[in-house]
Amino acid sequence: MKKLEKSFSYGKPRFRYRGYKPLILISRCLNFQNCRYDGSRIFCAPAEILKKWLAYRTVCPESDIGLPSPRPPLNLIKTSRQGWLVSHPDAQNFFQQQLRTKSRRYLRENASVQGLILKEKSPSCGIAGCKYYHPGNSSPRGRTAGLLTREARKLLPRAALISAENLKNPEILFYFLVKVYTWRRWENLRRSYSPAALQVFQARHKLLFLGFNRQLVDEMGRIIAAQKDYNQNQLIACYEKLLDNLLQQKLTRGCWINVLLHGFGHLSGSLNKEEKKEFRRLIQKFKKGETSYWSLHNWLESQSRERDITYLLNQKFLFPYPPGINNELATIDLLPDPFETAINHQK
Ligand code: SF4
Repeated sequence: MKKLEKSFSYGKPRFRYRGYKPLILISRCLNFQNCRYDGSRIFCAPAEILKKWLAYRTVCPESDIGLPSPRPPLNLIKTSRQGWLVSHPDAQNFFQQQLRTKSRRYLRENASVQGLILKEKSPSCGIAGCKYYHPGNSSPRGRTAGLLTREARKLLPRAALISAENLKNPEILFYFLVKVYTWRRWENLRRSYSPAALQVFQARHKLLFLGFNRQLVDEMGRIIAAQKDYNQNQLIACYEKLLDNLLQQKLTRGCWINVLLHGFGHLSGSLNKEEKKEFRRLIQKFKKGETSYWSLHNWLESQSRERDITYLLNQKFLFPYPPGINNELATIDLLPDPFETAINHQK
């Protein structure tokens, strides 16, 4: 832990790591235990790397209701009368009630989780790719979500969901990391709420949030400005709703360029002619999708650090999640990127 903390201490302000890990529920058959129907586990390299940065709690609805491993695989069956059933292909034992109860239990016992990393295609854990059948028919009728995912969407609608497969997708991984870390910071704020802390939260996320949606940022600002009209619970609930709405949006290249120009505005007074030219060149390349999100980001970050521009160094758009994550993911040729440039596709 000390080693990790040290690697973030590269100047003012320090990235605080302690007590900061987002809490994540993860399918136990991903790296942790041989609990799959065929007695195996799946090695997921990004999940293994993220283990250092995310606080994992493992779940396996099927083995936790007492099913052995190996076991006959379960099928998800859609019926018109009883809804979703889960059974072995050739048996009349149905497990949906036990699986649902177990799933709800995980979610209630971990109500503060920021996200779930799940094994796709499973009738229990699958996010959208699980085959389902009609009764008495052995041909799949389509694909859908498993029971744990259905319960998570009902009980913890704000938690970020990602499949092990999508952890390898730079764009989906970027949003997952931004979401779980932003919710984690929000959770920290809620635990020791004060009007001043909310103002700091909003100020530090301002540029990041502007990239998602300017109108919502304005609304958040209005709520904070009218704090006296709300009691604490109302204020938190209203702000949280807007934050949830904001985090469901996607960054656009145009909005992100405005954010970068805004950040650049805090630097430009201390840059020479050549440095300004270099920034404009990078912006043009970014506009055309010829350079990655991180090239401009890294440029702004290093210039801000060199000149000790505290306003920018405190902004979460430069550090939406610990920078060390990218360094370690790079070892498996993976770089989270919201814009999936040509550069990423070449990998
Ligand atoms: S997919 Fe879910 S239920 Fe199936 S083995 Fe993995 S953790 Fe268990």
